[in-house]
Amino acid sequence: MNDLERRTNETVELLQQLIKNACVNEGTPESGQEIRNAELIQGELESGGIDAQLYESLPGRTSLVARHAGTDPEAPALCLMAHTDVVPVSVDGWREDPFGGEVITSPDGVSEVWGRGAVDMLNVTAAMTVAFRDVVSSGKRYPGDVVLLMVADEEFGGTHGAQHLINNFWDDVRCDYVLTEYGGTPTPDGSAVLLTAGEKTGAFRRIVVHGTPGHGSMPYGTDNALYKAAEIVRRIGEYSPVPRLDQMFADRLAALGLPEDTQKALMDPARVADELAALPVDMARNLHACCHITMSPNIMNAGDKVNTVANRAEIEIDVRILPGDTQDDIDQTFRDIIGPDLLPSCEIEQILPEREDGAAFSSTETPLWNALADSIQMAYPNAAVVPSLVTGGTDARFFRKMGIPAYGAGLLSSDLQLPEFLNRFHGHNERIDVKSLELTTQLWLDVLDRLWV
Ligand SMILES: [Zn+2]
Repeated sequence: MNDLERRTNETVELLQQLIKNACVNEGTPESGQEIRNAELIQGELESGGIDAQLYESLPGRTSLVARHAGTDPEAPALCLMAHTDVVPVSVDGWREDPFGGEVITSPDGVSEVWGRGAVDMLNVTAAMTVAFRDVVSSGKRYPGDVVLLMVADEEFGGTHGAQHLINNFWDDVRCDYVLTEYGGTPTPDGSAVLLTAGEKTGAFRRIVVHGTPGHGSMPYGTDNALYKAAEIVRRIGEYSPVPRLDQMFADRLAALGLPEDTQKALMDPARVADELAALPVDMARNLHACCHITMSPNIMNAGDKVNTVANRAEIEIDVRILPGDTQDDIDQTFRDIIGPDLLPSCEIEQILPEREDGAAFSSTETPLWNALADSIQMAYPNAAVVPSLVTGGTDARFFRKMGIPAYGAGLLSSDLQLPEFLNRFHGHNERIDVKSLELTTQLWLDVLDRLWV
C-alpha cells in the first residue's frame, strides 16, 4: 500500500467513526456533545505523537486545537478549521442508517461513505486530521505554524465553538489564513473548480402577531392572530426581491458550464426568473439563493387551547442577506411585506445575535489562494479556480470579520457535481465517494507544500 492509499484509508475510517459518534446539534445548549468527536480526534493525533488541547464551552461542547510550530515566527500561520457537529436527520427519508457510517459500493462501482456529516463536513474534518497527523509525525516543518482547529456548534451559529475560542483563547487559535468548508466542486468537464471566498449572512427574524382572545364557539368577527399570521406567511411567499446579478454570479454560471444563452438570460434582470424556472430545480435553488435575498418561513406557533381564539402567533423565518444588505434593510423589507393593515398587530424580532451586516468576502489576491489554485491543478490540470458564494453561514465569517482571509475548500471527484453535492447538505442520503476523500486529504498536503514557497 502506498502513502496515498494508506492516508485515504485512514480518512475513510476516521470519517466512519465521526459519523457513528452522531454529534447532532439540535440548537439546544446541551445537544451536539461534540466531546465524542473531539476525544476521537485527540486520540487519532496522539497515535501520531501529537498533543492537542480540548476546550469546553459548556458541558460536552468540546473543541480541539493542535498547533504545529513553524520555523519562522514571522511567517504567516495557516489554520485548518472544521466542525465536528452535524444537523439532525429525518430517518424516514434515508435508504441507509444515517449514523451507520457504512462504506457501500453503488451498482456503478463507486464506493461511498454513508451518513450524516459525510459532506457537511466530517469528510473535511477527517481529511484535515489525517493530513495534519501525517505532516507533524513526519517531522516536516514549514515556515509558518499550522493550526488544526476542530470546533463544536458550527451548525447553530458557532457560539459554543469557533466564537468561544476566538473570544477567549485567541492566542491558542491565532492565525493569518483559514481553510474550512466548503469548496472544490469541479464542473462537469473539469474546466473549473469552485472554491468559497465569501458567504451570505443570516438575518433570521421572528414575527410576533397579536390578536384578541375569545370563545372558539363564536368566531364571528373575532381578531384571530392565526388568520393574520397565515396572511403574513402568504405575503412573504409572494415577495420577490430584486436579483443581484454581479460578477461573482456571472463567474458561477460560467463555472457550471451552462450554455451561453442560458448564462445571458440568467444575467438579465427581466429574464432571470423565467430562466431559473426552466432549469433543473436543484440547480435553480442554488442559483436563486446566490443572487437573491432569501426568506423561508419555517416555524409557526399559535394559540393555547383548541376552544380559544388565538391571541398570539409567532412566525420564524430563515432570512439570508447578500453583500451590502444591512440588518436595518431587512427590517424595513419586512415592514413593507407585512403592510400597513397588519403591521400594527406585529413585532419584528431578530432571532440570532446581531452580526456584521452583509456578507463578508475574502480577497483572492493572496498567497493562499494561489497555493490552492496550484494544488487543485495537480488533480484537475488547467482547471480555472473560481471564487464563489456560500448561501449558508460558516465559521469562516468570524475570521473574515477580523480581516483574516478564509476560504471554503476541499476537492471532490468529478463523480460528485455541484447540484447533487448541495442537495446532500443537510439532506437525506448524505454520502461521499472515497475518491473525493482521497483528493481532499491530498489537497491539504499540497497546499501546505505550496503556501510558503
Ligand atoms: Zn458545515
